[in-house]
Amino acid sequence: MPCRAFRTAVDDRLDGSPDALQLVQAAPHLRRCPPCLAWVVARHAYRRMMQRLGDAVVAPLDLRDRIRGVLQREAARDAQRPNA
Ligand SMILES: [Zn+2]
Repeated sequence: MPCRAFRTAVDDRLDGSPDALQLVQAAPHLRRCPPCLAWVVARHAYRRMMQRLGDAVVAPLDLRDRIRGVLQREAARDAQRPNA
């Protein structure tokens, strides 16, 4: 399974709970793909942090544009990798 498809498939399952992290970490893709393993851990931590913060934090107005720029650069980098 390509990395992009794997990440899309598991993203909704990473709800911040320890059970969800264990379930996703058992996926065969992660045994041979360290970048996706790092992505899963970071994504899980992000979801967990957002759950804890709830609505208490208001993001700066330019945050969406900055995140979009990072995601676009990452997508361009993934598109250049042979197994992305
Ligand atoms: Zn991968």
